[in-house]
Order: sequence, then structure tokens, then C-alpha cells
Amino acid sequence: MLIGGEWVESRSGETFESVDPFTGRPWAIVPRAGAEDVDAAVAAARAAFDGGPWRRMPGAERARLMRRLAELIAVNAERIAVVETTDNGKLIREMEGQLRGLADYYHYFAGAADKIHGETLPPDRPNFFIYTLREPVGVVGAITPWNSPILLMSWKLAPALAAGCTFVVKPAEQAPASTLEFAELVEQAGFPPGVFNVITGFGEDAGAPLAAHPGVDKVAFTGSTAVGRHVMKGAADHLARVSLELGGKSPNIVFADADLEAAANGVVAGIFAATGQTCMAGSRLFVEDAVHDELVERLAARAREIRLGDPLEAATEMGPVAFREHRDNVEARIGVAVSEGARLVTGGGRPGDAALREGFFVEPTIFADVSPAMDIAREEVFGPVLAVQRFAGEDDVVARANASAYGLAAGVWTRDVQRAHRMARDLRAGTVWVNSYRAVGPMAPFGGFKASGIGRENGLTALDEYTEIKTVWIELTGATRDPFQLG
Ligand code: NAD
Repeated sequence: MLIGGEWVESRSGETFESVDPFTGRPWAIVPRAGAEDVDAAVAAARAAFDGGPWRRMPGAERARLMRRLAELIAVNAERIAVVETTDNGKLIREMEGQLRGLADYYHYFAGAADKIHGETLPPDRPNFFIYTLREPVGVVGAITPWNSPILLMSWKLAPALAAGCTFVVKPAEQAPASTLEFAELVEQAGFPPGVFNVITGFGEDAGAPLAAHPGVDKVAFTGSTAVGRHVMKGAADHLARVSLELGGKSPNIVFADADLEAAANGVVAGIFAATGQTCMAGSRLFVEDAVHDELVERLAARAREIRLGDPLEAATEMGPVAFREHRDNVEARIGVAVSEGARLVTGGGRPGDAALREGFFVEPTIFADVSPAMDIAREEVFGPVLAVQRFAGEDDVVARANASAYGLAAGVWTRDVQRAHRMARDLRAGTVWVNSYRAVGPMAPFGGFKASGIGRENGLTALDEYTEIKTVWIELTGATRDPFQLG
């Protein structure tokens, strides 16, 4: 682990194994951090924040280091993509693209690092000059999930570095290796010791003490809604700021006037890309009556053709889910959908191919005739399982799409530009894609309404999550005032 610029084992000497989900076998051994390691990492980040050069370094200099890091990421993208694919089973073709694009997040926020400033405020009385300063929030404790460890960490780290914060990250126990590889790049880029620290370990042993640590000023979490609640409770004890990027059950809505070919492709991208293991998965498909049967047929045909296989092979379209227990969960949810009377259109089991037997595969699965009360319509599966409902008209679908505990994202497929804007206005979701799905970028705020989270990552607004505003009042005249009056 990287703590205060030193590579260290855990204080207890304990380790754990990370399993390759394609072979089902362990492939990496990493330190297992406990509360003492969290203390050490937070102390290092605290010292680097309170006493080090980092927070007082001019933004342009912080930006130079961030750009150096971005260049190192670009050079090492393929290597790190292989590490992450081996750790979590995500397709190499997705990971290489993701890692190549990752540098852009550091460039974007490097561009902002020297433009973080306060304002002068017009006073309501002549004897004051008032201005604000924007200062770094302090030590950030980041906790990340296994589905895109480095990307989701970067959505936190890039604005945090731009703002002048220091950082401790705990990646998920199922996929910790790529964050350790990334830490080497941070070292090579030349950041001061303690600015970036990594501890590897389990949620209870290392995540919970990090979230609740009194030395942490801000907790940035991506993961499940259930754990997000624990994290927020832990942070509440010392009133740390929190941003939470949580689960979703996002609606993908296809109107009869849509380009059905494009819509079918977008639905596949929304639910079968990344084996459905993305927070923004378009897992609830709403199809307007007139095109319902045709679209479901097209989707089923495409789902049956999806090439399952080794995620490290370029031709593979869908890899395994990330770990054994997760496959058990996905299969359990499929079982509940069947027992509740959803109609299984395709998939639902494990692929028969002998070459896939050791991996944690689930077939691309589509349920139709889903009703809103069913588990499959309400709960996040985080796997390649689509729940299709039919609808009649805009009002019907807006009401049903919004009748969810979640509000992370939504897709709308229509050729009617007025309808597209009405839907974008009426859907209660942090992101709405029109005739597209699963597009993200450093300039575009991302986050959830309702149980999908608190706060936004990306875009200039993300800097608000990592800065405090300080207001300064300067009295200009030296006159005395009535001490018993406010103002
Ligand atoms: P998870 O909540 O189980 O784990 C996430 C992280 O929290 C891991 O690092 C884990 O070790 C840690 N953790 C577990 N228990 C903890 C505790 N008590 N205190 C502190 N930390 C703890 O989630 P996961 O299974 O790794 O990821 C899948 C979930 O993440 C899905 O619900 C998905 O929707 C969500 N997700 C959200 C986004 C988003 O941006 N909104 C992006 C990706 C994933």
C-alpha cells in the first residue's frame, strides 16, 4: 500500500487474494488493511495537507503535476487496462478505451486548478469590503467499487487534486490491484508524499473506519445504496462532508417514433455492456405499445448473438460478472423474477460452452411482461438482466419511470424534438440521454437524484464538493458601531 510516499505492508501483516473472474482462480495477493492502517494513511494525508507544500502550491503548479500524471496514464493505459480486466473481468476493449480517456479527466481538472477563486461581493453598506475565498476542503477519504475502480476514483481524485486536497483511497476488495498500479504513476509524476495514499482491504475493516475517521474532512463514496447509508452515518459523527454515488434502476424509454435500430443498439449498450455491472445500467426498458413486440424480438435476437468469452480477447462482447457471490446474487434475482411471473424471453441461465465453465458467467437475460411491483422492476440487479414493461403515451411512462426509489439516469428514444425536451424536463434523474445511452465525460456533471446519491462528480460543479467557501469582511472606516445591533 502507499502511505505517506512509502510502500508498506499492512500493520498486521495480513493479506488477501484477488480472484480472476474468468479463471475463477486467485491472481494477486494484496495487503489487508485494518483500522491502524487507516489511521496511518489519514495521518499521512493530514500531515501533507496541514503542513506540506501542497495546499499552498499555486494552482498552476498543481496543474503541471496533474498533467504529468495524465501523460503517464496515457503511456501506461494498456498495461493498467489488463490489470483491471484480470481483476474484475471487464472487457479489455472497454477498459482500453476507458483508460485512454482517463487522462482527459486530469487534463480537464488541471485546466481548472488555477481558476478556483472567490468573488468580491457588492456590500449593502459603504464601510465594508467583502470577498470570498475558495479553499480546499482538506483530507478526502474515498471508497470505490469494483466495477470501474480507477475511473470512479479519478472522478474524485482529479477535482480533489485541483482544489488542493489530499487523498486516501480504499478500492473494493474484489478489484484492488489497478489502484495500486495507479499509485506508482502518482509517485512517478512527483506529487509530494502523503498527497495520495492507497490502502487495500475490506469494507468493514478498512472502509468503515475510513468513512468515520475524525481526520477525514470529506468522504467521497461510490457503491451500493445500502453501504452508502452506512458511510453517511459514519461520516455524520464528525460531520464530514459526503458525496455519494450510489445505485440505480434507470429507465430506458423507447417511443414508437424512434429509430428502432438505434434504440435496440442503445438498449443493448445500456444493459449488456460491462455485463450490466454499471450504476447507470438501463435496466428498466419501457416500450410504447405499437413497437413493443418488434423491439423485444430484435433485442432477444441480438442478446442470443452476444459473444461471451475471455474478457482479455478483443472479439469478446460480454465477460463474466466480477465474482462468484455476485453471480449467486444475479441468479437469485432471476429466480425471483420467474417466481413472480415475469416472462423469460431469453437467457436466465449459465452458458453451456465448456470453455466458459470456470468463469462466473450469466447469459444475457430479458424478461418481458414485467409489472411495476415486481422485484425485477424495483431492485438493482447489477448484472445483464433487462426488465421490459410496455406503456401507452408520455404521461403514463413519465409517471412509471419516476416511480422508483432511484434517480441516477434515463434514456429517451424518439425522433420528436419537442417530446425529447419534455421528457428531459420531466424525468427525475441526474442524467438524461436522448437517442444515446451511457455517455459520460469530464465536463458533464454526473450523480443521482433520490436514493442514487448526493452531490455531483465531473464538470466544474464537482469542484464545489472539494472546496469550502470562506467569506471575509473588511471594515474600511475605523468607525465604531452600536455593539447591540447585528450587521
Ligand atoms: P459496495 O457498496 O458493496 O462496495 C463499495 C465499496 O464500499 C467497496 O470498496 C467496499 O469495500 C466498501 N464498503 C463495504 N462495506 C462498507 C462499510 N460498512 N463502510 C465503508 N465502506 C464499505 O458496492 P459494490 O458492490 O462494490 O459496487 C456496486 C454498487 O456500486 C452498485 O450498487 C452500483 O450501482 C454502485 N455504483 C454506483 C456508481 C455511481 O456513480 N452512481 C458507479 C458505479 C457503481
